[in-house]
Order: sequence, then C-alpha cells, then structure tokens
Amino acid sequence: MSNTQANIDPAEIKKFEELATRWWDTQGEFKPLHHINPLRLNFIESGSPLSGKRVLDVGCGGGILSESMAECGAIVTGTDMGKAPLSVARLHAMESELEIDYQQITVEELAASNASSFDIITCMELLEHVPDPLSVIKACSELVKAGGSIYFSTINRNPKSYLFAIIGAEYVMKMLPPGTHDYGKFIRPSELDVWCRQAGLDIVSIQGISYNPVTRMYRSSSDVTVNYMAHYIKPE
Ligand code: SAH
Repeated sequence: MSNTQANIDPAEIKKFEELATRWWDTQGEFKPLHHINPLRLNFIESGSPLSGKRVLDVGCGGGILSESMAECGAIVTGTDMGKAPLSVARLHAMESELEIDYQQITVEELAASNASSFDIITCMELLEHVPDPLSVIKACSELVKAGGSIYFSTINRNPKSYLFAIIGAEYVMKMLPPGTHDYGKFIRPSELDVWCRQAGLDIVSIQGISYNPVTRMYRSSSDVTVNYMAHYIKPE
C-alpha cells in the first residue's frame, strides 16, 4: 500500500515527528498525555486485566501507554506511522528494561495478515488524526480476538470542546502547540458508536476525562463533553 492510498495524513505524521524528542518530557508538549495516562490505564485494567494478555497499541507514539501496559504484565506490540516517535519509543523501552515490539505499519496493513491476534487493542488519541477513522476501527475489529476488547479515546465535537481542547489547551494554557488539533476532526460519542457498530463492535462503557483549569488536574468523570474513552468488545 503506498502512502497516497494509505489512511495517513502526512501533515499529522510530520507534526509528531517534529515533537518526538520531547515525548518523555513530563513538562513538555506531551504533558497532557503523561497526566491522563494513569486514568486511561485504570480504565483499561478495570475493563480487561492486562497481565499476560497480547495487546496492540495503535498509534503508540513515544510509548507512554505501551510502557505502562507492559509494566502491568501485558505482551505489547506498538504501531505508529511516525519514524521518530517509534525511535524514541524503542530507546525508552530499553532504558525502562521493557520488551515491546514496536513496528512502523498502518493498522490496516497489520490487519491484512494478523486477523484475530490480540486480546486487547488500545487506540488512544489517534482517530482524530487520521483521514478515515472508520477504516482504523474496522482494522482494529479484525485484529482483536472474538470476545476481546478495544479501547478508543478521542475528543468530542461541540462548543465546549472547542473552547477547552483548542482555545484553552493550545492558546490560553499553552499545554499543546497551536494546530495540534483540528476541530472538524473531533468525534462525537454517537459517531464513534455508529462506526464501531458498522465494524461489528458492541459498547461496554464510556468515561469522560475532565480537566480542571484551576487545579490543572485531570480526573475520570461521567462528563464526556470534551475528552473521553470508550470500551468496546467484539462479540464471540
Ligand atoms: N496513542 C499515544 C500517542 C497519541 S499522539 C498516546 O495516547 O499516548 C498520535 C500518534 O498517532 C502520533 O504518534 C502519530 O505519529 C500517530 N499517527 C498519526 N496518524 C497515524 C496513522 N495513520 N497511523 C498510525 N499512527 C498515526
């Protein structure tokens, strides 16, 4: 599959390539990912205990979530289309003495030869960066075993999420570089659910991640108006 046909936006890949060296700087551009990681790990672990499970982390970037899942005893494969984020991920895993299989491959390509191979798939903060989210969701559905779980996280699309995720995070608090997110690519939970159902997945639960600009803390909540995570299963 050539890059012109693949489900990739080269401008998106470039953005993350340029920031890659700062992936593990907990005070840098990826600070929000470091902050929300314990919340996502907890959401995953409470839905699907990770120890001994074959896990695929799609769009793994520098490996923040991949490493934390490996630390919980999962056998992790991480994929991304950015070369620099993967180099950072490989080096960091060595430093952390974790064995993680990092591959530069699209999820669609991986699905072509690895159907029903994973117990759990995580696809966090990726869907809002790809041209065709449904194609990613369908590939994840092919890759997971029957009865297995898939976890997505993304950003809702409404005036509040525009205010918090773009104006607030990129321009006021300067937590993310301007242009990190494109409002038009944000995904409503109802849209995610339609795509997941088209891909043969059933919803288990959905949880919000809320940011308090005063305390500058994130917490899990029932408020899915901005950042949210969803747990799906592929029925047996
Ligand atoms: N999932 C990680 C990183 C999110 S940042 C986490 O939440 O901690 C988004 C990542 O998606 C970047 O590393 C970027 O390189 C990657 N990406 C963007 N488009 C992609 C595509 N089409 N296929 C695979 N990875 C992609």
